[in-house]
Amino acid sequence: MDRIIPLGLSEFDGLSDHSRSCVFWETERSVADGDKNCHDSFEKEAWTSSVLLEWGVCGQILIRDGRPVGTCLYAPPNYIPRDKLIPAGPTSADAMLLSHVYIEDDSRSMMSYVSLINAAIQDLKSRGVRAIEAYGRLGDVGAYAEDADPHHWSNHKCIPTQDVLSVCGFKEIIRDPRVSRWRMDIDRHNLWAVSVKAALERRHDQKIELLTYQRRVKATRCRSSQPPEAPQK
Ligand SMILES: [Zn+2]
Repeated sequence: MDRIIPLGLSEFDGLSDHSRSCVFWETERSVADGDKNCHDSFEKEAWTSSVLLEWGVCGQILIRDGRPVGTCLYAPPNYIPRDKLIPAGPTSADAMLLSHVYIEDDSRSMMSYVSLINAAIQDLKSRGVRAIEAYGRLGDVGAYAEDADPHHWSNHKCIPTQDVLSVCGFKEIIRDPRVSRWRMDIDRHNLWAVSVKAALERRHDQKIELLTYQRRVKATRCRSSQPPEAPQK
């Protein structure tokens, strides 16, 4: 059975090997030589904890039969150094970047990717984000394209594949022969819903404030004819 949970530091040690140690997005290191340069679990944990502390939840984890089998990460682009090095970049100033997307080999399916990425989209929507961008490489459902060289940065395994981004609702905005840039604008209806919810919450707070004031007036009238001061706005 599948479930998806937000990434917290307590889940870090249980992540799949690649998600726990890959710093492709979090550094500017070369991925040549079988991408050994890009594996550093200390650095990855330090990055994760600083983003969690400064910005909040920055990832979702796919749990299958009680075991983490997939992870996606996202953050404002200034937290993701690789963004500046990709020819189709950098990410637009108004967007958050969906960076690392990785699901273990035997758990990969379009449905798994869609569930995992949708959880990230829902989290970002609920936080009032206006747009999400991601880089997409050639390949099908997380696999390498037929002509791919796995040592080349453009085929790095935790860059999501273009078919996955397309099914999730992203649109290609900057074309590139290998790694293009994709974008999803959060719909106006969602922004409207968020603003209405915020307005209703403000109204609810004001109503409680008014009731408290009315109770104080009533209590004071029992003791004197002077009403208490009105609540500050
Ligand atoms: Zn990676």
